[in-house]
Amino acid sequence: MDALDFVDEELQGLEQRGVFRWLRCMEGPHGPVMTVDGRRAIVLASSNYLGLSTHPRVVNAASAAAARYGCSVGASRLIAGNHDLYGDLEARLAGLKGTEAALVFSTGYMANLGVLTALAGPEDVVFSDALNHASIIDGIRLSRAAVAVFPHNDVAALEDLLRAHRARRRIVIVDGVFSMDGDVAPLSDLLTVARRWGALLVVDDAHGTGTLGPGGAGALAACGLAGAADVEVGTLGKALGSFGAFVAGPRKLIRLLINKARSFIFTCGLPPSALAASSAALDVLRDEPGLPFRLVGNARLVRERLHDAGFDLAPSTTHILPVHVGDSRRTMDFCERLLEAGVFAQGIRHPTVPEGMERLRVTPMATHTREQLETACRTIVAVGRALGLPGPATADRGRPTAAGGRR
Ligand code: PMP
Repeated sequence: MDALDFVDEELQGLEQRGVFRWLRCMEGPHGPVMTVDGRRAIVLASSNYLGLSTHPRVVNAASAAAARYGCSVGASRLIAGNHDLYGDLEARLAGLKGTEAALVFSTGYMANLGVLTALAGPEDVVFSDALNHASIIDGIRLSRAAVAVFPHNDVAALEDLLRAHRARRRIVIVDGVFSMDGDVAPLSDLLTVARRWGALLVVDDAHGTGTLGPGGAGALAACGLAGAADVEVGTLGKALGSFGAFVAGPRKLIRLLINKARSFIFTCGLPPSALAASSAALDVLRDEPGLPFRLVGNARLVRERLHDAGFDLAPSTTHILPVHVGDSRRTMDFCERLLEAGVFAQGIRHPTVPEGMERLRVTPMATHTREQLETACRTIVAVGRALGLPGPATADRGRPTAAGGRR
């Protein structure tokens, strides 16, 4: 009897349930075509939505910063790691989001943990959309606040919950663009309801930052609400092609986070290369305003081709396109066969999505050529047909219950 026997049992359990995960090997520059597990493939699985990760200005800024300042900042920001590149980047991020200030965190996961644990405690209630990202769910758990999960995008249900739950503080939190479904939260209605009930509104715009709204300012800006939420979280490792994340909001809130957010306080600062790359990415976003439009055009092309072939892409309205399959093994079978045929779109299973909502997450980039996308769509349709997909449509796909969304 080995004390680690339980590990084999757990791994076997994951395999039996069709949810075992493993790491793929991605080779070459991170772009529209890469070598994935040894195969050349058109990549429809990256959040490098604008292709900025390999943009010459971004790459040059990163390498120049590494050459000039070294490869790390050597400490947490509150000790000795607050390199002056931070100040420049945070001022630009606040400018992008239309807020007084911004604070860079090491990852989006840590930003959500930091915001939730700094703002909420056991006396408080967090009102969370059923399909919020795992980092929000974990942040709520870590804060020890009570949680009230409302059905996805259901503002009336949220209002009922706000009516029913009194607390010291009430915080409504949503993904701006939902990471697996590609729909946008009803931000204007959420803001109205949050204001009516004296609740804070926190928007995690990991996937809208750089892609949506004027100048890529994000999902709030796209509905004319730039800077209107109490707190906004954005990431630097997706559309901005670098690494890290940030919180944007009023100056006093940023001061509170610096003092209370443990995922900010007790961790090393980002390396100069990542900070400089993010600033350069913001320059590119300003100087090449056509990039987000190219992404929109590419997403439209893929949406039309797959929709015309009968695939259910609801409820997406953005560059994140869920191709619903509805079963773990079938999803991974689809994914593997696609890769063999030269297209990589990752299969998404529980607990990332509720059981029964398994899908391929298809994400075109601004830098894909039309030819690449046409080839990829033809391949998806052909491989899907060989597997009997698309199957019959399900009326309420993308609208699971509150309980279904817990991860
Ligand atoms: N929020 C959302 C909505 C996300 O999709 C992600 C990443 N998938 C994160 C936060 C975490 O961001 P990061 O990868 O920078 O930790």
